[in-house]
Amino acid sequence: MESQLSTITYLKGLEMHYKVVESFTSIQGEGIHMGRPATFIRLFGCNLKCPFCDEPKHTQLNLVKNLTAEAIAELVETKLVVITGGEPSINDINPLIWFLQDEGYEVQVETNGFSFLNVEDADTVTLSPKKYAPRPKGFWTEVKLLVSAIDYDRVETEIEYWKGQGVTVSLQPINGLNTINPESMRVAMRLATKHDVRLSPQLHKLIGVE
Ligand code: SF4
Repeated sequence: MESQLSTITYLKGLEMHYKVVESFTSIQGEGIHMGRPATFIRLFGCNLKCPFCDEPKHTQLNLVKNLTAEAIAELVETKLVVITGGEPSINDINPLIWFLQDEGYEVQVETNGFSFLNVEDADTVTLSPKKYAPRPKGFWTEVKLLVSAIDYDRVETEIEYWKGQGVTVSLQPINGLNTINPESMRVAMRLATKHDVRLSPQLHKLIGVE
């Protein structure tokens, strides 16, 4: 019965459409998959309006293509698929994740933590919290903490908390849209060195790719 139900859920998922604003293949420049070739699928919409947001396309309705999981899979050129936004977890995208996994892809979702359940079946669920309290609940694979030049003490508290939870921690300087912020980078490096955690410098900006 259970497997019949999950087959029905799976088949229903094939009919669903997802609002894609952009797809491209590049290098994952952040977090635990940094340096791996990846196809990025960017979904429309976000629950937040962060003042430092470096991702304008997720708000542009004119870019939206309503695509099925099958159509999205046709855009993928690499083993690793990164579903990002905006905020992918504002909708249940597990059916899309299942389909891509069935096709042999490895799926990473980048989320601000809005809803773990909506993305829970991804191979890698990367939490990038934009506010420090309350801490988003979920079984995160890694947490990417944003670092600015004035954030030292606050980020240090978060590093200790997440390491204590057994979650892999990456520190990511808050950079410009296509530029590196040296001050944020210096603070992130000091913290990474002190706490023996990964620096996530936004490799794609350093090497000048999308
Ligand atoms: S959560 Fe991410 S995509 Fe959404 S507004 Fe903040 S930085 Fe931009």
